[in-house]
Amino acid sequence: ETKIGVLALQGAVKEHMNMIHEVGAVGIAIKRKEQLTGIDGIIIPGGESTTIGKMMRKYGLIEEIRSFAMSGKPIFGTCAGLIVLANEIDSGEEAHLSLMNMRVSRNAFGRQKESFETVLSIKGIPQPVRAVFIRAPLIQKVGIGIEVLATYHDRIVAARQGLLLATSFHPELTDDTSLHSYFLQMVLESRSSVKG
Ligand code: GLN
Repeated sequence: ETKIGVLALQGAVKEHMNMIHEVGAVGIAIKRKEQLTGIDGIIIPGGESTTIGKMMRKYGLIEEIRSFAMSGKPIFGTCAGLIVLANEIDSGEEAHLSLMNMRVSRNAFGRQKESFETVLSIKGIPQPVRAVFIRAPLIQKVGIGIEVLATYHDRIVAARQGLLLATSFHPELTDDTSLHSYFLQMVLESRSSVKG
């Protein structure tokens, strides 16, 4: 069985767990680094990135999740999770995991667009994908190694860098499991390459 951990310090954890179950994997809520043993992939949920980052530092999860990524295991960050993955935050605050080569801008869609739902076309996914944006970040600038997977009115809202996946929006707040299936596929591929 494939075990996907959902970082459960703060934010939209349960919805991701349901999605993981629906695509046929086992979801594990991760609160402490010891729980990462035997996990094949991690989802970092939406919520409040400053809070998530603080708690990750407090529990020694920054270094641990960085090594997890370096060992060739996939990570998927949604909304605040995308901010946590980035190596640069435009407000000047300190980056958290600093794994993805991109600059992000928090709460980038303006007040009148605090939250909305739309349908996006995403590279690598055949059908249009439903997406919920809530005080969402956008990817302002991408560096080497980043592949843009989706834009919304010319703004980058989904990207991939090797085994790291990030979306500005919440795919777990709809009943559309396509991004979770896409991530599970990344996890399965990484497992077969790790085990030869
Ligand atoms: N605005 C939040 C942040 O900056 C992200 C919002 C979300 O995850 N829905 O961390």
